[in-house]
Amino acid sequence: MSRALVALLLLLPLTLSAQERARNVVLFIADAGGTSVLSAASLHGYGAPRRLFVQRMPHIGLSTTSTATQIVSDSAAGMTAIVTGQKTHNGVIAQSASAVRGTSDGEPLKTLLEYAEERGLSTGIISNDALTGATPASLYAHVNDRAMTAEIFKQVFAPRFGDGPDVMIGAGRPAVTKALAAAGSDLDTVARPSERAVLSSLSDVPSKATRAIVLLESSTFDMTEAIRAAHRMLSKNRKGYFLMVEGDVHTDRVRPGLDRMVMLDKAIEQTAALVGRDTLVLFTADHSFDLRLRGGLLATPLLDGIDEAQELSQTEKRRDVRTPAVRMDNGHTGEEVLVAATGPGAARVRGYMDNTDLFRVMLAAFGWKAE
Ligand SMILES: [Zn+2]
Repeated sequence: MSRALVALLLLLPLTLSAQERARNVVLFIADAGGTSVLSAASLHGYGAPRRLFVQRMPHIGLSTTSTATQIVSDSAAGMTAIVTGQKTHNGVIAQSASAVRGTSDGEPLKTLLEYAEERGLSTGIISNDALTGATPASLYAHVNDRAMTAEIFKQVFAPRFGDGPDVMIGAGRPAVTKALAAAGSDLDTVARPSERAVLSSLSDVPSKATRAIVLLESSTFDMTEAIRAAHRMLSKNRKGYFLMVEGDVHTDRVRPGLDRMVMLDKAIEQTAALVGRDTLVLFTADHSFDLRLRGGLLATPLLDGIDEAQELSQTEKRRDVRTPAVRMDNGHTGEEVLVAATGPGAARVRGYMDNTDLFRVMLAAFGWKAE
């Protein structure tokens, strides 16, 4: 056998495993986690570049984040593109670009979660932001304005396909309670007709449960514990599951934002070890954020002086925070974000991609065709 042929045969299993079908897909969204946030998180968390797990994943690409009309995206348009394969306007949740935000509906766009529900898979959503926030809502709700919190929550219990999201773990209990009260309703009234309960703690989930809604008071829960609980429930379905995990990493407050990115990255690494070889793990951001590395030395802690600078900008009512190493201007930005993947189907992540391409990457990993 020629050496070239031997080399080819040795490489073949690798190539095939990256192309084969996934039973499960776990999508991680770092909300506002652009590449500069990743660079800063690695320097902040580990004192060196390229130490994050997402920076070491085997398949990477870049994704645009533009909306149907705008260069800079919010979470609603950003997530709608990623999970429906179609672009819409800022503020619009999983409706076509014929929608006018806050005024009139567009066509509902079928989401990856709905594809999975229709095919009998289990589905889950975890977020350390509100479960009715624009990122999670884009998977299960269809509204013309992300601010319609009560309507978004009601749509959890009125699914267009299957029986709706099976597992939901996340923050936002005060906001949802308040929005439902303003609409003359409450959590139990909305949930009871579908025989579901809205739990307030992970420890309330029965050990044999396959479905659960856990709406927490605060965003400071243990993400890894939530992922383990979701995995325990979702992986009981032999057909497979789709799980989306959102970590809010907006760095308007630089230190806590970067701390959250380091924590999310650890959760992704632990998840990749937990889920097994039949699972595509995909990481990206819905849009970038205006955090820049402007100077500094690798040997010096990245965030030296940041707490004082953050306080000063608050006192002076400025949007920006500046130290010799870091400059933060409080806003989303329009440049490409990292896409990183491991597991079956991960090889489709490569080069410059569009945010709508990620929908097709996940659909193809499951072996499904877009309608
Ligand atoms: Zn966002």
